[in-house]
Amino acid sequence: MRVLVLGAGQLARMMSLAGAPLNIQVSAYDVNTETVVHPLTQAVLGKGLLSAIEACDVITAEFEHIPHHVLDTCEQSGKFFPSADAIKTGGDRRIEKALLEQAQVRNAKYHVIQTRADLDKAIEHIGTPMVLKSALGGYDGKGQWRLKDPELANNIWLEMEQCIEASDNQSIVAEEFVPFTREVSLIGARGKDGSIVTYPLAENIHTDGVLSLSTAIADPELQQQAEQMFSSVAKSLNYVGVLALEFFDVDGTLLVNEIAPRVHNSGHWTQQGAETCQFENHLRSVCGLPLGSTKLVRETAMINILGEDTLPDELFKMPGCHIHWYGKEKRAGRKMGHINICGDYSGELQRRLCALANVLDSQAFPAVHDFAKNFSA
Ligand code: AMP
Repeated sequence: MRVLVLGAGQLARMMSLAGAPLNIQVSAYDVNTETVVHPLTQAVLGKGLLSAIEACDVITAEFEHIPHHVLDTCEQSGKFFPSADAIKTGGDRRIEKALLEQAQVRNAKYHVIQTRADLDKAIEHIGTPMVLKSALGGYDGKGQWRLKDPELANNIWLEMEQCIEASDNQSIVAEEFVPFTREVSLIGARGKDGSIVTYPLAENIHTDGVLSLSTAIADPELQQQAEQMFSSVAKSLNYVGVLALEFFDVDGTLLVNEIAPRVHNSGHWTQQGAETCQFENHLRSVCGLPLGSTKLVRETAMINILGEDTLPDELFKMPGCHIHWYGKEKRAGRKMGHINICGDYSGELQRRLCALANVLDSQAFPAVHDFAKNFSA
C-alpha cells in the first residue's frame, strides 16, 4: 500500500516509521515546494500534485492549513481520507464551532467578529473576560488575544483589524473565557466501516501556548464524556482516520476546545504506551484495515523537546526513557523531538519524571521541573 501524506513534517515522518513493518510505504507532499519527499530523509522523490496522486493508493494529511485547491484535487481522486471537508473544518474555527453546535457537543460560547461593531456585540453576547482567536491559521496559541475589560477593547482592535485585513476570508472568533481546572485530550480512530477505537485520555500541560507535557490518565467518568463527544463529532464528519479532541475540564465537566483532524502531539505517548500507536491506527483506518487495540500497556508521559537539538547522554541510561528526534534544523521554540517516559505503574512513572528533571535543563523543560517540584512538595 502506498500512502501520500499532505505535509512533510514530523507527523508524516512518524507515520512512515509506523507504516514500514506493515509494508505501508509513506511519501510526503510538501505543499510549499510542491514536491514529493521521503518523510525521513526529505530527499526529493518527485514533483507536482497530479503525478503524486496518480502514484499512490491512499492520500491523507498531517495538518489542516492546506490550500483548498490542493484538498479539492485530492478529494476528486476518491483516495483522500479523512475528507477535504474534515480538514477544512479543523482549519477554520468558524466551521469547527458550527460543527460542534450541530453535533450538540459542549463548547465555549462564541461570536464571530468582522468589524469593530461586531466586537461590541461579542462583548454583549459573551461578556468579559474573553479569548479572541483568528478563524484561520492559528495554532499553538498564535493569533490570540485576551480581553479582560470592555474598556480595553480599542487597545486590541487595531491588531485584530490588521489580522482580518491581512488575509482573505479571515475573521476573529470571540470565545467566553473558560475557567478550566486542567486541559485533556482524547485521540481516537474511526475506520471505513464506522468502527471506533479511543485511547485513554491525556492530561496536557502547555507552556506559552505550546504543549510541553502530556500524560495518559485513567479517569473513567471523564473518559466516558470524552468518548461520547468523540463519537458525535466523528460521525457528524463521517470521519475516517485518527481524530483528536482537545477539552477543557471544568470541575469534572468537559467542553471541547478544538478538534484536530489528524494524528496529534498529545497522542505521541501511544508510541510506547499503547498496544497500537496513533500513527499505525491512522494508517490502518485510511487504508481500510481493521483498527488496532488502543490498550494502555504501560504508564507513559510525553515531553516535547522545543528549540533544543541535544540531550544529556544520561537519558540513554534511564530505564523507560525513549527519545524521538524529528531530524529538523534547530530553531528557537521549534518542535525538534519528544521524549516518551514510561513506568510499570503510576508511582514509577512519577519517580522517573522526577529523575528526568534532575538531568534536563529547567529553562528548556519547565513543565518537567514543575512536575518534580509539585511531586516533592
Ligand atoms: P487553542 O489554540 O485554542 O488551543 O488555545 C491555546 C491555549 O489557550 C489553550 O490550550 C488554553 O490554555 C488557552 N485557551 C484557549 N481558549 C480558551 C478559552 N476559551 N478560555 C480559557 N483559555 C483558553
